[in-house]
Amino acid sequence: MRRAVCPGSFDPVTLGHLDIVERASKIYDEVTVAVLVNKKKSSLFTVEERMALLAEVTEVYGNVKVDSFHGLLVDYCRERDIPVIVKGLRAISDFDYELQMAQMNHGLAGVETMFMTTNPLYSFLSSSLVKEVATYGGDVSGLVPERVLASLTERLASP
Ligand code: ADP
Repeated sequence: MRRAVCPGSFDPVTLGHLDIVERASKIYDEVTVAVLVNKKKSSLFTVEERMALLAEVTEVYGNVKVDSFHGLLVDYCRERDIPVIVKGLRAISDFDYELQMAQMNHGLAGVETMFMTTNPLYSFLSSSLVKEVATYGGDVSGLVPERVLASLTERLASP
């Protein structure tokens, strides 16, 4: 079985993330979307909430699982026999850091990183931008799944 992992914060999942996950699900037999647990970083949604949203919006693909991880991604990959990390590359600004991570992960554990070029529709899109725009009342309906839009609106409306 060909397995791959799509790691990230997914706070919350956007259409840019989903585009990468969907394309990966057509190449690999099983794709795990793994939510990074980072206690140092403040987030809008809890890890459990992010996982629940991801599970809802990826159910349609049939071969996508949702999980969380902390610590080194390569340890997670080793424990679950996942040889490939799939990442989306948005712009040159992503490249420098992603190159370092990919080379480190390969050096540490022989885990490969496959980069997918972002869909041009979403090349500017990040979770942080979505949160910022939504916080100030901007329309993000074309940037996140409908289910996520509902949670985002509700969360930002609560004090
Ligand atoms: P962000 O907060 O920037 O969306 P995440 O850590 O949640 O970052 O993203 C996880 C991964 O998803 C990124 O490393 C990147 O590979 C991919 N990704 C995020 N947004 C996009 C996008 N708009 N297009 C393509 N890939 C993306």
